[in-house]
Amino acid sequence: MKKLINLFISLCHIDSPTGEEEKIANYILDYFKKIKIFAKKDKFGNIYARIGDNPKLFLSAHLDTVEPGRNIKPKIKGEYITSDGKTILGADNKVAVATIIQATKELIKEKNNLSFEIIFTLSEEIGNYGAINFDYKLLKSKIGFCFDSSNPLGTIITASPFYERFDLKIIGLEDHASLPDQAKNVLYPLKEILNNQKLGKIDSFTLFNIGKIQGGYVRNTIPGEIIINGEIRSFFEKNLIKTKNKFIKLLEKIEKKYQIKIEKDFVRENPGYFHKSKQAKQIINKLKKILKDLKLNPKEKVAWGVSDANIFNDKKPISF
Ligand SMILES: [Zn+2]
Repeated sequence: MKKLINLFISLCHIDSPTGEEEKIANYILDYFKKIKIFAKKDKFGNIYARIGDNPKLFLSAHLDTVEPGRNIKPKIKGEYITSDGKTILGADNKVAVATIIQATKELIKEKNNLSFEIIFTLSEEIGNYGAINFDYKLLKSKIGFCFDSSNPLGTIITASPFYERFDLKIIGLEDHASLPDQAKNVLYPLKEILNNQKLGKIDSFTLFNIGKIQGGYVRNTIPGEIIINGEIRSFFEKNLIKTKNKFIKLLEKIEKKYQIKIEKDFVRENPGYFHKSKQAKQIINKLKKILKDLKLNPKEKVAWGVSDANIFNDKKPISF
């Protein structure tokens, strides 16, 4: 534990906000080389390491942190490790990075027929770009565990949603407040959208949210443009698509009714997963047993958030 804490603190001292992970990546690469583990950077800069020749599973964490993540001063305060309050600590995800490295170091001393792989990704925080651009030709395992969740130890995330964001621009016609007959007030189509589109839970697996609405710019003018930013999440792709298509139909109807244009930009940001097949259940049960042996309380959970695991599940399907 002492060695682990020291390693964690050393990692916290190396600034690694998203886009500036080179220093920490080099540190880890050197560290692996020192303990004679095969490790390399892929083209994107992600770290890949392999122990043994026949790996069946990989462990993963990300190297980047959010801001304020520079000049971090970690301190041990009783049972806790904290920053000085001016910055983040970087526990997300350096706790996992340090643990994977330290556990590997200890394990290879004890056993010589071990085999597994490690992936440390970059740029997770801004959209899982490390995982998206990872060189999957390197990877032999079909099963992996991504250690990146703020839930209590022992929690197993078994589902995470497909995620699509959308940006709409309602374009009407602006005019002075005294000329409502000449203007095309975009507040009417906005009202119609809000009256007809269900918000929040669409079904038990699907969420629809509008997070930002911006429009108009001066008191005495009829607004001619409104921008809407929203998102749809669902554990099932078909539910997401159904919700999206229904919403697009509504928008098209409104465009016709008010003789206006609505620019629509939908972007799929993340694939989702839902592990409920027999094979997945077997792996989860095996993991639960290990967690119990470690005196942890294993608990399955579905997460509304997304992580590198969404990308790994999409790129390297375990034939679930
Ligand atoms: Zn994280």
